[in-house]
Amino acid sequence: MDEKTKTKQLKEQLFMPAKKGIATISAEEIKKADEFCEGYKTFLDNSAVEREAVRYSLFLAKENGFEEFDPDKKYNPGDRVYCINREKAIALAVIGKNGTKNGTRLSIAHIDSPRVDLKPNPLYEDNSLALFKTHYYGGIKKYQWTVMPLALHGTVVKLDGTKVDISLGADEEEPCFCITDLLPHLAQEQVQEKMAKAIKGENLNVLVGSRPLDTDDEESELVKLNVMKILNDKYGITENDFLSAELCFVPAQKCRDVGFDRGLIGGYGHDDKVCAYPALIAAIDSDVPDCTCITYLTDKEEVGSDGNTGMQSDFLRYFIYDLAKLDGEEGYRVLSKSKCLSADVNAAFDPTYASAYEAKNSSYINNGVIISKYTGHGGKYDTSDASAEYMGEIRSMLENNGIMWQVGELGKVDGGGGGTIAKYVANMNVDVVDLGVPVLSMHAPFELISKVDVYEAYRAFYAFFNKL
Ligand code: MN
Ligand code: MN
Repeated sequence: MDEKTKTKQLKEQLFMPAKKGIATISAEEIKKADEFCEGYKTFLDNSAVEREAVRYSLFLAKENGFEEFDPDKKYNPGDRVYCINREKAIALAVIGKNGTKNGTRLSIAHIDSPRVDLKPNPLYEDNSLALFKTHYYGGIKKYQWTVMPLALHGTVVKLDGTKVDISLGADEEEPCFCITDLLPHLAQEQVQEKMAKAIKGENLNVLVGSRPLDTDDEESELVKLNVMKILNDKYGITENDFLSAELCFVPAQKCRDVGFDRGLIGGYGHDDKVCAYPALIAAIDSDVPDCTCITYLTDKEEVGSDGNTGMQSDFLRYFIYDLAKLDGEEGYRVLSKSKCLSADVNAAFDPTYASAYEAKNSSYINNGVIISKYTGHGGKYDTSDASAEYMGEIRSMLENNGIMWQVGELGKVDGGGGGTIAKYVANMNVDVVDLGVPVLSMHAPFELISKVDVYEAYRAFYAFFNKL
C-alpha cells in the first residue's frame, strides 16, 4: 500500500464524509418519495390557513382511527386520540406500550404561514373601486404580494353566534382578488426607493370590486354597497360582522411540480406544512410505539408563538398532564423525560444569493432533513441550543435508520436570523432540536422544496416515534 492511499484512508477515517445527497438514493426510494408527495400536495392545497389545516388533518386522523380525547377514559397501548385547540391547533397521540412513564416523543410543526390579514374595518370605496384594508401577518417582502391572484380565506362569527367559513378564489371558476402596483412608466420615484419602502404596509390594499349596485337612486358608495350585497347574499354577513372575523388573503394558485424532472414542489405555505404533513403521517402510521408519541400542529409561530393557540400557550402542557394522569404519573415528570423534534423548515442554500449563506454550514436541496442545533440571531440570542448529548442521540437515530440528513445554520453569522418553537418547548424542560425540510424562497408566495427531502422528513419522524 503506497503512502497516498494511506493518507486517503486516514482522511476517510477522520474527515466528515462527502455529502451523500439524492444521487445515492435508489430509483425505488425516489418513486416512494414522489408518491408520498402526492398526498402532501393535496394536504397543502387544503391547508391555506390553520383552521383548514386542522380540518384536513382531522379528516385524515379520523379516517385512520383517531378518536377525540376524553381525559376520563382509560386508554390502552395503540389507542389513537386527538385534541383540538380552538379549531386552530391539533394534537394527535398514539398511546405507547409504556404510556408516558418514560416521557413522550413530540413532533411539533406549525400550520400558520405568512399572509395578508384583513383589518377589523376593511371595506371602503375610493374612486369607484371597492378595496379591503389589510395588515400583513408574519415576515413578508411586501413587493412579492402585489399583482398576483389572491384568494380569501377565513371565518366570520355573526352577531347571533353562527359561524361562516369562507374560502373563495382558489378554484379557477371562482373570482380572485389582487393588490395593484404602479406601472413602470410612472414608477421612476418608486423604483429608487429602498426595497423595504417601495411597497408600504398601508398600500397593501386589495381590490375586491368595481361595479356599482344596479339602482336609479342617487346614492354614494354604490360599488362598496354592491360588494356588501354580494357578501350578504352569499354568506349572510353585514359590514359589522368583519369585527368578529378572521379573514386573510393568500396566494390563489395551487401547488405545482417544478423543474423538467419534477423534483421540486412550488407552492404557498411549505413553511411549515412541509413538516406538519410528514409529522402527521408519521403519527398515523405508528402502530404501538414504546413511548406515547404526539404530533402537535400549532398556530401563531410566524408571529412569535404568542396567544392561546401558539406554542407559548399551556394547551399542549395540559394535554400531556392529562395523559400523564391516566398513567398515574406526574405531568412535570413526564415532561422532564420527554424528547421533541421541533419540526420546522430552514433556508436552503440558494446559489443565486450565495453570499447570504456560509456554504459549509448551510442546508441543501435534495440532501435530506436539516438539523439546526440552534436558530436565533446575533450571538445566539433567542434560541434553544440543543445539547451535545441530545444531538448525539438524534444523530444516531438518523444514522441507524439510514435517513438522509444534514446540519445547517440559517444563513451566515449576523446576516439576519429567525426562530422556531424549539425554545418554548425547551422551557418546559424537554430535550428539543430543530429538524425539518430545506426551503428555497422561504416566506414568498411561491416557496420551493424537494420531494425527496419531504419523504426523508417523514422517515425521520417515524423513526423518532418508533425506533428511538
Ligand atoms: Mn417555520
Ligand atoms: Mn416561517
